[in-house]
Amino acid sequence: MTVSSPTEAPKFAAPDRRDQVWTNWLGAQSSTPRHTVRPRTVDETVEAVRHAVRRRIPVRPAGAGYSWSPLAPTGGMLVDTRSLTGAAGVDPRTDTVWVPAGTVVRDLGDLLWDAGYSLSQQGAFDQQTIVGALSTGTHGSGSGIGNIASFVRGVRLVDGRGELVEIDEDDEHELRAARVSLGMLGVIVEVRLQVEPRYHLRREIGCPTWSDTLHTLGTDLAAHRHYSTMWSPHDDSLETCYRIPSPPGVAMGDRNLSFSFDKSDGADGEPAHHVLSFRSTEPPAPFYEMEYAMPVGRAAELMAAARGLLRERHPERAHPLFFRFAAGDDAYLSPFFERDSITVSAGAWPDTGEEAFFDDLHGLFSDYEARPHWGKLYRHDRADVHRLYPALRDFDEVRTRFDPHGLFLNDHLRMLFG
Ligand SMILES: Cc1cc2nc3c(=O)[nH]c(=O)nc-3n(C[C@H](O)[C@H](O)[C@H](O)COP(=O)(O)OP(=O)(O)OC[C@H]3O[C@@H](n4cnc5c(N)ncnc54)[C@H](O)[C@@H]3O)c2cc1C
Repeated sequence: MTVSSPTEAPKFAAPDRRDQVWTNWLGAQSSTPRHTVRPRTVDETVEAVRHAVRRRIPVRPAGAGYSWSPLAPTGGMLVDTRSLTGAAGVDPRTDTVWVPAGTVVRDLGDLLWDAGYSLSQQGAFDQQTIVGALSTGTHGSGSGIGNIASFVRGVRLVDGRGELVEIDEDDEHELRAARVSLGMLGVIVEVRLQVEPRYHLRREIGCPTWSDTLHTLGTDLAAHRHYSTMWSPHDDSLETCYRIPSPPGVAMGDRNLSFSFDKSDGADGEPAHHVLSFRSTEPPAPFYEMEYAMPVGRAAELMAAARGLLRERHPERAHPLFFRFAAGDDAYLSPFFERDSITVSAGAWPDTGEEAFFDDLHGLFSDYEARPHWGKLYRHDRADVHRLYPALRDFDEVRTRFDPHGLFLNDHLRMLFG
């Protein structure tokens, strides 16, 4: 691990906006930071964080604001990282690439493709910044593939002492803390990602019955690089929620919509980054989402329990349940820490009694050692975090060393981790 402490007198990074309201994509999370800075370079980021450290001003880094949870709000300094972008060259000896933190996942896919490479995994949505995405454990689906953060091989960040720190693969402990760190170790300026030679994927969409879906789940997961499945409570759910036309002649309540993607030679496939995320040019219609990760060994049981809950207690709900899968990894705060997992996402339109619905789901999933998707809605408290994250102490050791004054905590994070 290398630490550089530039000695020149720190200047305040431009542009600095005072008292500008920040909101997430829905407008449901907001705050009025004393300072909003948009650094364009590593040096500007160092200057901004040093300004805050000297005055003990709390700092929160923000990406594209696509999280539902209150991770970014602060009354101190908001570091909007979206101007930290730029092309990066892949090192062909290691198939790794340094990527500036604010690079949007979709743009990264295009840049890599042009250079002959692809990401191994991404979410079903690609408008996040790369570091915003990996900081919350953003994932796609595939039982043998980890979340995006599991492909991080190095991190450069400005920590809570104002120092520029580089963490590499030899710093295993620090890297395991940094991969999924919710902006609590500092402002990440760049990450080194493992990528792979560019590839095409062949997409298959099927509508198996619900019972067949459960029956073949194990073989479907083993047979496909990426596999996910949705259950829709209503026939028009898919179209209204995800702009996916409902297959004709199929009563979706007794069926699933299953997606699988496998590598192809290109003749019958599409560039990987074009199909792993829904490539809609329109912003999504506002909705709330809760998502929990649970042990994959209990997948069939809990899929049935979630479907039963919707049918019996919330039959009016329109959003499909989305079941995805991820390989376990070693990041201390990853929802998939040392556990191959199924994730269940449930959505709801605003002002439709979603709080009671999410309370019910939380109650159900609590029986399954459910860990939250940090960027979505969850009901966990400090005791839950201590119970569900066996390496929390390891994370805390790194966090308190990198941020000795707790400048990178806001009220929500202090409640969970402080
Ligand atoms: C429509 C929609 C679809 C989605 N689809 C998926 C999906 O398919 N799979 C999935 O897993 N998730 C999905 N998500 C969740 C989303 O991927 C996460 O919430 C993600 O963290 C958002 O990234 P962002 O760039 O908007 O970051 P933000 O929401 O702005 O920030 C997220 C976290 O990252 C931290 N952070 C951001 N930049 C930095 C930095 N430079 N240094 C340090 N910390 C930083 C912030 O402090 C915060 O803790 C979806 C969200 C939406 C709204």
